[in-house]
Amino acid sequence: MCVGQPSKSKASSRVASIGRADTKRRTGRDNILAMIESLRHLVGWIVSSFRSREDLVLENMALRRQLLVLHAQRPRTRLTALHNPRPAVRNAERDTLVAMRIFFVLLCCHFAAGASVAREPESEKVSHPGVFLITIDTLRADHVHCYGYERIRTPALDLLAEQGIRFTQAFTPSPITNSSHTSIMTGLLPSSHGVSDFGVPLAGKYPTLAELLANEGYDTAAFIGAVILDSKNFAPGLDRGFEFYDNFPEFTTTKSRWGRLERRGMEVEQHAESWLNAHPAGAHFVWVHFYDPHDPYEPPPPYSEVYKDRLYDGEIAYADSALGHFLAYLKKQGWYEGAMIVVVGDHGEGLGEHHENTHGIFLYDSTTHVPLIVKLPEERDAGRTVDAQVRTTDIMPTILGLLGVAAPASLDGDSLESFLTGTEAVPRTVFGETEYPLRFGWAPLRSIRKEGFKFIEAPKPELYDLRADPGESRNHYVPWDGTVQKLRKAFAELSVKSLAPRKTSPAAVSANTIDELHALGYLGSADARSATDVPEPSLLPDPKDKIEEQNLLHTAMMASEDGETERARAALENVLQLDESSALALTQLGRLEIASGNYAKAVGYLRRARVARPNDATDALEYGRALELSGDLSGARDALLATLKLNPDQFEARLALGRVYLGLNDSNAAEDQLESAVLLQPGNSEAQIKLAEVLIHQKKFAEAVELLETVSEPSSRNPEIFELLAEAYTSLGRRQDAQRAQSRAKALQDSKRPQ
Ligand SMILES: [Zn+2]
Repeated sequence: MCVGQPSKSKASSRVASIGRADTKRRTGRDNILAMIESLRHLVGWIVSSFRSREDLVLENMALRRQLLVLHAQRPRTRLTALHNPRPAVRNAERDTLVAMRIFFVLLCCHFAAGASVAREPESEKVSHPGVFLITIDTLRADHVHCYGYERIRTPALDLLAEQGIRFTQAFTPSPITNSSHTSIMTGLLPSSHGVSDFGVPLAGKYPTLAELLANEGYDTAAFIGAVILDSKNFAPGLDRGFEFYDNFPEFTTTKSRWGRLERRGMEVEQHAESWLNAHPAGAHFVWVHFYDPHDPYEPPPPYSEVYKDRLYDGEIAYADSALGHFLAYLKKQGWYEGAMIVVVGDHGEGLGEHHENTHGIFLYDSTTHVPLIVKLPEERDAGRTVDAQVRTTDIMPTILGLLGVAAPASLDGDSLESFLTGTEAVPRTVFGETEYPLRFGWAPLRSIRKEGFKFIEAPKPELYDLRADPGESRNHYVPWDGTVQKLRKAFAELSVKSLAPRKTSPAAVSANTIDELHALGYLGSADARSATDVPEPSLLPDPKDKIEEQNLLHTAMMASEDGETERARAALENVLQLDESSALALTQLGRLEIASGNYAKAVGYLRRARVARPNDATDALEYGRALELSGDLSGARDALLATLKLNPDQFEARLALGRVYLGLNDSNAAEDQLESAVLLQPGNSEAQIKLAEVLIHQKKFAEAVELLETVSEPSSRNPEIFELLAEAYTSLGRRQDAQRAQSRAKALQDSKRPQ
């Protein structure tokens, strides 16, 4: 199907008055219910008048959908092109729809005329229901009060469960934030939409929920709680269809993680409120992402006190309070009752189960079982619980189905409409996937959860009988087991559809955002590098054998972010106790010692990393940098030449080698390297300044001046440029220019000095 951006005219036609029907519904809820009832009778009458009932059986579900279509339909929109996701509406049904719609609009006019808030012309009374999607990061289903956890208070989630439909057995296909959210937004498995890693762009060919709703005239906005979902770097393409996507600021001077990496739930909520206040009219599709339960667990007071022994729960309780504020705001605006509200966890948290502290590596229920609650407009089917197994990939088709909007043709998920009304209870097959272990050089995992069994495909496969062993603690796998064979067959069938073996997509995360990934506790693809070159994933180590190392590496990353160098060092040294040739630990120790100024120690660790991963270009680069910093210039030269042999396009390596050659007084070789660096990054002033320095060494003053004058824009704040310029001008006999450059350099130096 064709999905485009909402046209300007469509957007501009979204006049201020549309959507006030929400406000009216608050006061006229009972009227609306009575109206629906009357409408139901009328439809029956029309149907029997035109044709026999056998001919046109309008099932409860179909009526529901048509009502919603009518509800969603603005008068100016085409009637016959009802965005019905199923085969075209039959003529007779269309007749009925026409009649229903006329009656519905008449009724709206009737009630609106009597309602005190109604002031607009009648043609603008009907609107789409508001759709609010709330994702709560790292939320285990079994840590929510309405899911039976007595040690926490989650009144907002409990209220939604009371007024909506609660799915007790909902599962995410991915334990990683970006992949999981992309699955929610596209109705596709990670292996289908391809976002298996941070920074992998979502391809334009997969329509997103926001895009489809924007096409329907919705005003769309997204409010994210962590930089990991920022569409500028870690989640490119996830903003597609959102008119406003609340990314993090591009530049920030703060060292604190708040505002730079994370936003607290209340801040996210406030951002959403501000946007809604500025866009009160029209139908809203708003996605709100609360990141709080993600580690590190640092809830604000009073949650830090009340839950001081269970800070993860404290974060959940706090996120719930932010959700509560948001629901209260929707109520205040009169938008709550008429809205569809979906709350879901993106994945769970290991909390030490199966020795996994956080999430991302394994596919056990601890990280894949999430809460899912759907509150329908007018609180229909309030209080229902659905125990059948469902998936978060079902969310997108469900929302579209309820709105009568056609879903894309081939989705991995399917609408849950019949579950919402209790007319269906057939459990859905749940697939799970994680490629995150590849970041560590370990095998990726896949799982299937079906008919009370979970099968995990791994170098050491696992089979659990979930009815007898819900904690997945007794592995029954034997290759000849009938269940194993059946579930493997289901995998194979899915593979034909979407899981075709493919190369891991390279993440587009740039080097400077790797630090942000580390600060959030994740390894970037650049950390794994050559470890993923192994052609057959099953030859990689099983993550089960490596999970303790992962926990320690995670601890080290979080400790480094908090400036706790000693704790980070201790954790990394513990990794080396488990595996003395762990390249990940050796590289990180090397970096840590470089940052601490212990260059000789860094050289030692990075030399060992080089032995462990001889084909790794980045290890060789870091080794070269450590040698340069330790003063071993000829050693640095050899290491940097080695890394460039592995990958000639490394700007950092060219620049460093230029510096090293300059230090070794080989200015011709330095010039070659720096020219290559400038070619690789033409706008990089550091490389240009270094090259100018080399040119001055070579007494090529005119060339140096030419280069420096292009770098020294009026706004340049780097005194080094003007010092070099002064030197070159002096040598060319341009005394006045030299003096001007010299005083500019001095002024810049003075302004940099602490007052
Ligand atoms: Zn997450």
